[in-house]
Amino acid sequence: MTNPVETIRQWQNEFTTIRRDIHAHPELGLEEHRTAALVAAKLREMGIEVHEGVGKTGVVGVIRNGNGRRIGLRADMDALAMVEESGVGHASTTPGKMHGCGHDGHTTMLLAAAKYLNETRRFDGTVHLIFQPGEEGAGGALAMLEDGLFERFPCDAVFGIHNRPGLPVGQYGLRPGPMMAGVAFYDIVMQGVGGHGARPEATVDPVVMGSAVVQALQSIVSRNVPPIDRAVVSVTRFDAGNAYNVIPDRVRLGGTVRAFSREMMELVEKRMRGIAEGVAAGFGGTATVDFRVITTPLVNDPEETEALAAAAAALGGTKRDFPAVMGGEDFAFMLEKCPGAYIVTGNGDTAEVHNPKYDFNDEAIPFGAGVLAAVVERKAPRVG
Ligand SMILES: [Zn+2]
Ligand SMILES: [Zn+2]
Repeated sequence: MTNPVETIRQWQNEFTTIRRDIHAHPELGLEEHRTAALVAAKLREMGIEVHEGVGKTGVVGVIRNGNGRRIGLRADMDALAMVEESGVGHASTTPGKMHGCGHDGHTTMLLAAAKYLNETRRFDGTVHLIFQPGEEGAGGALAMLEDGLFERFPCDAVFGIHNRPGLPVGQYGLRPGPMMAGVAFYDIVMQGVGGHGARPEATVDPVVMGSAVVQALQSIVSRNVPPIDRAVVSVTRFDAGNAYNVIPDRVRLGGTVRAFSREMMELVEKRMRGIAEGVAAGFGGTATVDFRVITTPLVNDPEETEALAAAAAALGGTKRDFPAVMGGEDFAFMLEKCPGAYIVTGNGDTAEVHNPKYDFNDEAIPFGAGVLAAVVERKAPRVG
């Protein structure tokens, strides 16, 4: 058994150049035109079949090598709307946009895995190289799914990867079951009757109503979520009136919810509606709740997790009980449609993702690419 990390490491300079080029030219979600064109051009250079415009700016490459299993490998391509302060030579050339989450690295890792799989062909089956746009809240995974991703490119299993600062390069982490939280954003409008600040008896005060709702929402996690489960309900916005002597007509509350199952997300939404509407009615006003699921909980299939963990363990240190986090990841929508697993790869001692000083660690390219290639060889083994 050869080690794909060793093979890919020989191409370190080539892929470091690609990674830094993407880093210097960040593009926001669903606007990744240059990045997608670069990905498509690199795949074509390798002689790989390319499909562009899958879910707006998504790209899918196809490597066929026999009739075995069909494996999807997914990387994200988008940058963040933030100002880079990394000070590196390949820093963003576009003010206000930055590859602050390392998706430049993920895209590069998948390109390196594509080159390895295409050249070595030590598998029997089909590899679908899924370059996803818009992971950072732009709905890129859903855009690809709605564009028929798995109908046009059927997969028996799909695998995704993310870098993790603080974890040493060459280390991997994953866990079976829920690994990242589902994320929802919500807005609640409390409608009362405004009036003079000195004549509250002539109003239905939405500030008092909204304050009661903020308090009551705290009971969802403490009283409705079973104590062995986990969820977060945060109120992060409270927009009320503008004058000292005017009771406003309405107030607007907003915030985020995190949970590790669809059922828990639904429970929180149901309780939120019950509390907002019930409290409003009690005060003589009304409430409307807009609850939007941004990403579903990311749940790793146990069998596919074991395959990915075994592939990783053959290449470097692997933590199979990596802690779940309350952050979200929209690869979760793909995992709802197709069994698979998600793994993190060490980015070494760098700044955290979404920090202005962050930069992806190029030393991690062979490890990320290597584990994606290795799981294909494991799941779709070449016979004979
Ligand atoms: Zn991010
Ligand atoms: Zn990310």
